[in-house]
Parts: sequence; C-alpha cells; structure tokens
Amino acid sequence: MQFNFIANTPTPSGSGLTLDVIDPSDGQPFDQIQRSNALDIANAVEAARQAFNGPWGRLSAVERGRLLRKLSDKVLECTEELAGLEQRDCGKPTKQARADATALARYFEFYAGACDKLHGDTIPYQNGYSVMTWREPHGVTGHIIPWNYPMQIFGRSVGGALAAGNACVVKPAEDACLSLIRVAQLAAEVGFPAGTINIVTGLGHEVGDALARNTGIDHISFTGSPNVGTLIQQVAAARHCPVTLELGGKSPQVIFADADLDAVVPVVINAIVQNAGQTCSAGSRVLIEQSIYEPLLERLGLAFKALRVGPATMDLDLGPLIRASQQVRVQGLLDEARASGVGTVAEGQLVSQAPDSGFYQVPVLLRDVPVAHRIAQEEVFGPVLAAMAFDNEDHAVELANATQFGLVAGVWTRDGARQFRMARRLRSGQVFINNYGAGGGVELPFGGVKSSGHGREKGFEALLGFTTLKTVAVFHG
Ligand code: NAP
Ligand code: MG
Repeated sequence: MQFNFIANTPTPSGSGLTLDVIDPSDGQPFDQIQRSNALDIANAVEAARQAFNGPWGRLSAVERGRLLRKLSDKVLECTEELAGLEQRDCGKPTKQARADATALARYFEFYAGACDKLHGDTIPYQNGYSVMTWREPHGVTGHIIPWNYPMQIFGRSVGGALAAGNACVVKPAEDACLSLIRVAQLAAEVGFPAGTINIVTGLGHEVGDALARNTGIDHISFTGSPNVGTLIQQVAAARHCPVTLELGGKSPQVIFADADLDAVVPVVINAIVQNAGQTCSAGSRVLIEQSIYEPLLERLGLAFKALRVGPATMDLDLGPLIRASQQVRVQGLLDEARASGVGTVAEGQLVSQAPDSGFYQVPVLLRDVPVAHRIAQEEVFGPVLAAMAFDNEDHAVELANATQFGLVAGVWTRDGARQFRMARRLRSGQVFINNYGAGGGVELPFGGVKSSGHGREKGFEALLGFTTLKTVAVFHG
C-alpha cells in the first residue's frame, strides 16, 4: 500500500479510499495508492506553505543547489530501484525505464548548478535612483504530471521550481505514482525540509481539480491533454494564477530528397516507437519529398516489420500502452483511418510471451494520409506513424504547420540555406535539423506554440517561469 507524502511523512488520505495500481504488461493489479480529496490537497498546500515560509524558504541559493545535487546523486544510486518501479507501473522496457531514472538525476544536477546563477538586473533610471530587479519564487507551486514520463516530467518541472526556491505540491497521474512517491522519500532522506516536496495521489477530476482550485497554489505547471489544459487554465484564471501548459503535439519529421537516408531511418523509427509512441514530442508524422517517397517508405516499412512488442521486462522495442482505454483509443483511430481508405505499409510484431490481458499495440506505418484526416491531426499517443508526400519546400512547410499543435519539428536536408529557412518557417517550440530530440535535452528550453501550450520548461529558461520579477526602485538623491 502506498501513501501520500506530505511534510516528509507517509500519509493516508482522509477519504479512506484507495485505487489499484495496474501493471500494463499483464493488466493485473499489484499495489494500491490513495484516492485523495480536496482536504488532502489543502493539507499538502499548508505543509508546502510552512516550508516556504520556514526552513526551505530560508535556505540560500547555494544551499538549495547542494540539496538538489545530493538528490541527484541519490537518484543515481537508486537507478535500478526507481527504474524497476517505473517499469512495472508504466510498462516501460528496461532501457527506457533506466534512461528515465538517469534523466531525472540529470535534471536535478542541472538545476542544482542553476540555483546560484539566477539573478536580476540593474536598470539605468533617473538621476538619484538605483533600480534593480529581483527574481523571486512564486511560493507554493502545483505540478500535475502525466503518466508517460513521470520521472522525467517531475525532474524538469519540480527540479526547476525547487531551484527557483518554490515549495511543491505534486499530483502524479493515477496510472503512474510509484516512482514519484519514492523520489519524494529520497528527497526527505537527503535533507529536504518537511513540506518542500509533497505528493498527493488520486484521480485527475477529483484531486487534480482540487489542486488547480486551491487558492494557496501560486503557480501551476500542467503537462497532459489539451482538453484538461483548457480546464486548468480556466480554473486558474478565476484567481489570476499563472500557468505553464505542455499539451503535446503532432510533430512532423520533414525529409528532403538530399537527406542522408541512412541517418534518417533509425531516428524516424525511434521518434515514434520510443515509449510505445506515448511521447508528447513523438515524431508522429513523416513528410517525405515526392521523389524519394516510395523508396523511403519501403525502407521504413522494413524497419517497422522488424519491431517487436512485448512485456516490459523483455526489454524489446516497445512495451505495452499505459492502460486498456488507451489501447482502445489507438485501435479506434486506426480502424477509422483504415475504414476511410488509409493504407498500411507495415506493422511490427507482438511476441508470443505477451499475455492477452496486457495493453499491447503493434507499431503501424500508414501511407498517403490526407492532411485533414483525424489521424494526421490528433495526438494518437500510440506507435502510429502517418506518412505523406510533399512536392517542394513551400508544400512541406504548409503540411508541417497544418495542425493545431506546434511542439517539435525535425528537418532532414544537406542544404544549409534550406535548413535555416525551414527552421524559421516552422511554427514549433523546437526545431531539430538532421537529428530529432524527442524528450531529450535537459539543457534545451522546451514547450509549444498554438495548442501545444505555452511557457517553457527545461533549460535555464524554465527558471524564469518559476519566478516572478520584482522591480525595486530606491531614491537616494
Ligand atoms: P490527462 O487527462 O490530461 O492527464 C494529465 C494529468 O492531468 C494527469 O495527472 C491527470 O490525472 C490530470 N487530470 C485529469 N483530469 C484533470 C482535471 N479535471 N483537473 C486537473 N487534473 C486533471 O491526459 P490522459 O487522459 O492521461 O491522456 C489523454 C491524452 O493526453 C493522451 O492521449 C495524449 O494525447 C495527451 N497526453 C499528453 C501528454 C504530454 O506529455 N503532452 C502526456 C499525457 C497525455 P489522472 O491521470 O489521475 O486522471
Ligand atoms: Mg500503472
């Protein structure tokens, strides 16, 4: 049985209710978490406020940095344990689960080093004045985390907030709580004051909603679906609470005929099969210049056929999807696409050891997908790659920008001038040229335009969002 972690103490929910923790590889429950309510959130917010007004808030930047560095080292020491929890909870192949734990340590390391480098400015003003700006923490920050990369998204969001001096209340996704409860325990072990990091588990529309509505929360960082992002922003608007939203994408990989196709194929494949396609920055559309469309599709198709799906501990190319409803959703989108005439180039294989009760989906490469089709517009959040051909650079830009999203884009060409033209013309928070960075790059500011959200996490830039700027003008004559 897992408990909330409030004020460095494992705490049962006042509701007396629990939720089962399911292993996606076999669909079976193996643990329980608390099904918390608004009162539990209020208690966590109170604990965070006390930490912020007390021992945590009083630490200097360098002391905060040292604690984050200790936590980074502790996470590295516990990589196998954390990866094991994440693997069972989320169905991640071993390599992915380990990479996520290592990335979490790297986020804490990065933000440990950033704490004492965040500073304001001095501004020339009228004679007799000295004017400066201070970067101050918001206070208590709320973090609503999705299930696809719990450790990584915790690292980028909570790591940045702590570096800036905030105390945090975290609501993990109901499907992915175990690793984050453990990370909060590790933080207590290395010396984070009680109330600095609080974890409250439960259902999104209950406890997530309660977090968003709690007037003691001074800033909300949300990663998840566009619909829930809208709800969060509406609720936060009622009290003018700042919000950072990261709402996913339908990210294109644009392949010109002069690209190095040997380099393209493995990267395009990885960008959609990593984490079984459940990646906000998944490269889920591949736009290919007409003259190489057929030969490249053939190569991608061969690679898709070789992909194997199975239980997380087999450490294959793909594990299961997170839950049964996600499997049904992905299958539904595929059925709809095929019924409307969209063709399939190739599919991967499900291994015979995969239990029927697990939530598996083989990777699928679709061809000639009409740009307006639902499967070319909506985030599938599964291993489905939609291919389409383009005629020239203008056409490529038009197709790439033709969704409501704008999170990440990849461009593959050897033409240097075209690389820069494309980077300028793509409406996207990140553009990768001759590489693709789904999820990677702790140092790189990350976030979207349009319905992919607003605000930036990762990199030093995140610290600007986790602080508020105070201008102090002193008249001294
Ligand atoms: P979601 O519902 O938006 O969940 C994201 C987080 O928000 C979870 O912690 C969730 O808690 C919480 N939440 C749900 N309803 C809430 C509410 N009314 N108020 C406050 N918090 C709430 O996403 P999902 O249902 O897990 O996945 C659906 C789709 O979202 C996916 O297919 C994908 O397209 C997108 N998605 C995007 C990302 C990303 O990285 N951008 C990540 C995950 C999902 P519970 O899970 O406990 O309900
Ligand atoms: Mg689970």
